[in-house]
Amino acid sequence: MARNIGAACRRCRRENLKLYLKGDRCYSDKCSFERRAFGPGQHGQSRFKKQSDYAIQLREKQKVKSMYGMLESQFRLYFQKAESQKGVTGENLLVLLERRLDNTIFRIGFASSRNQARQLVRHNHVLINGKKVNIPSFQVSVNDIITLKQKSRANAAVNENLEAVVRRGVPSWLELDKDNYKAVVKALPNREELTMPMQEQLIVELYSK
Ligand code: SF4
Repeated sequence: MARNIGAACRRCRRENLKLYLKGDRCYSDKCSFERRAFGPGQHGQSRFKKQSDYAIQLREKQKVKSMYGMLESQFRLYFQKAESQKGVTGENLLVLLERRLDNTIFRIGFASSRNQARQLVRHNHVLINGKKVNIPSFQVSVNDIITLKQKSRANAAVNENLEAVVRRGVPSWLELDKDNYKAVVKALPNREELTMPMQEQLIVELYSK
């Protein structure tokens, strides 16, 4: 599946926000947003000027898209699905994005970024309810049990990530059993728990034009 492989740090600087796209590096003093907190490119230092409503909506959409590693076409499909569901479209959209398997693996702490989580899934390290699932966009459901394959549990990066998840915390909709490399989806994701600044209503306004 196609994915956005543009320079991750550049995207953070473009959105003027740490998007945490590079795992441990994002928490270290090597983070380029910390070192150069201005936009990329020739006019980067002068670009934080008054923006039109359209530009603000567009930037919000680009930010959320980058955060979850989506391309425009995929993101629009999520929006259409969110729109067809009952409830508030913006919240539905975020819940659909959160329920992606790659995001869930990142939230549990098996991976330090969604990118790394996608690799774990793609390379067949992940089991859902005992069955191999290698589709990063797979939507997890309540009561799903997510485990790592026995062979993958010795992976040093996974073990380091599990130690580091203590720093980040696991959201309450997931229950992690760190010692057994296992997590259970206890509930659907909750909007209140998404602490990254996201104004989903702006995305709804943009796509409703
Ligand atoms: Fe963004 Fe992480 Fe790069 Fe920092 S290190 S700029 S948070 S991707």
